[in-house]
Amino acid sequence: MARILVPPTPLSREGEVDAERAVRQDPPKLPHMSETIFSRIIRGEIPCHRVYEDDLVLAFLDVSPLAPGHTLVIPKEAVATLDKLSEESSAAIGRALPKIARAVLRATGAAAFNVLQNNGAAAHQAVAHVHFHIIPRLDGRGLGIGWEPMKVETADLKALGEKIASAAATETAKG
Ligand code: AMP
Repeated sequence: MARILVPPTPLSREGEVDAERAVRQDPPKLPHMSETIFSRIIRGEIPCHRVYEDDLVLAFLDVSPLAPGHTLVIPKEAVATLDKLSEESSAAIGRALPKIARAVLRATGAAAFNVLQNNGAAAHQAVAHVHFHIIPRLDGRGLGIGWEPMKVETADLKALGEKIASAAATETAKG
C-alpha cells in the first residue's frame, strides 16, 4: 500500500493523539469520512505541486512518484471511490484526463503511460478520495504490473457478462 505523506502543517495530523485533549478526556474528534489529505490540498491547507485546476478538478504531482511526472488527477468532490462519484464530476474528470496526460507526455518526453485508479484498501487505495494516477513510462521506470489471467469457461464468461449487463441496465435506468 502506498504511503500517505503529510508535509509539515500547523494543523494537527489526522489520527494523531492530541495530548492536551487526552488529559481533558474529551473524545478525539474523528475527521469526517470524506475528509482526507486530498481535501486539505484542495482547500489549500497543504501545499502541492499543482499542474492543472478547474472548477471541479485538481491535478498535482505525486510526492512519491513511480516515474518523473507521476501526476494525480482528483475531483474536488470528496468521495472515496469511483462508483460514488457524481455524473458532473465524472464528466469533468473525463474531460481533464486526456489533457493532463498530453501535458505530462509533453513535459517529460515519455511516449507511453499508465492510468491507475484504485478503489478500496484491498485494491491498494491508500487515500480515500477518488484519484487517478497518470504514470509515465520513462527510463525503465513506471507502473509495475502483475497480470495473472485466470482460466475461464466460455459459459461462465457468458453468464457473468449477462449478470453485469443487467446490473448496468439497472444503473442506467436510475439515471
Ligand atoms: P493510492 O494507493 O492509489 O491511494 O495512492 C495514493 C497516492 O497519493 C500515493 O501514490 C502517494 O504517494 C500519494 N500522496 C499521498 N500524500 C500525498 C501528498 N501530500 N501530495 C501528493 N501526493 C500524495
